[in-house]
Amino acid sequence: MKKLTFAILLFAATMLAACGQSKDTTQTNPKEPLEVENVVETTDTIAKKYLLGQFDPAKESDFSLIASVYTNKTGIYMKTEAYKSFIAMRDSALKDGITLTIVSATRTFWHQKTIWENKWNGRQYVGGKLLNVAIPDPSLRALEILKYSSMPGTSRHHWGTDIDINSVDPAYFKTAYGIKVIAWLEEHAPDFGFCRPYTPFGEGRTKGYQPEEWHWTYTPISCKYQEAYKNQIEYTDIEGFDGDEVVFSTRVIENNVLGVDVKCCQ
Ligand SMILES: [Zn+2]
Repeated sequence: MKKLTFAILLFAATMLAACGQSKDTTQTNPKEPLEVENVVETTDTIAKKYLLGQFDPAKESDFSLIASVYTNKTGIYMKTEAYKSFIAMRDSALKDGITLTIVSATRTFWHQKTIWENKWNGRQYVGGKLLNVAIPDPSLRALEILKYSSMPGTSRHHWGTDIDINSVDPAYFKTAYGIKVIAWLEEHAPDFGFCRPYTPFGEGRTKGYQPEEWHWTYTPISCKYQEAYKNQIEYTDIEGFDGDEVVFSTRVIENNVLGVDVKCCQ
């Protein structure tokens, strides 16, 4: 409703908007200017709830619903600026015979809590094991989950800037087509503001999640979020889920939130 109200106000103000127009029209013409005011966020003004994923992207004026042509999911959102850049990147990739599909975008704290707790409580197999039985020690269990999944409140997917492309299965990126996809992205994604944060361990990155070929971050916004997270978020802010007692011992801020390739935010 908020979006609709805003669209109506915009119509009255500009006399340009068509009846019923909403920000979803950006999906058909990514070159149109933003219909909403482009809020300039600085590392000091980003509220904690946006860093921790404790908001509803459907109610935020600078988020867009991702059109079905671009994703295999329904009802997922990303920051409009990042979304437009993804569309431009996808169009460019298509010309080279590569199809880019978003398989995950903004995930809230509560969404991440479900993912985390399913693994923590053994409702889902992790590497062929039910971790509540296989790894009774809470810190060790958390470290096993942290190979690929974030604790609620610590995911870059909270920010609206990060997406998973095509598949979250490492095996996909070993297929002939998957190899072409990752090669195309590594060459061209930076032209559209996207960077791969979870590269293989080495010079650019020494800790954090296992390498992820599928995860890409829109750095013109996410680098500000990363800096804001570093400045504002304390371990005591990360709570409200099963296993949150190991937030300190696993050092998830230093190891995971900040364990990204340095080249993304240089
Ligand atoms: Zn991801």
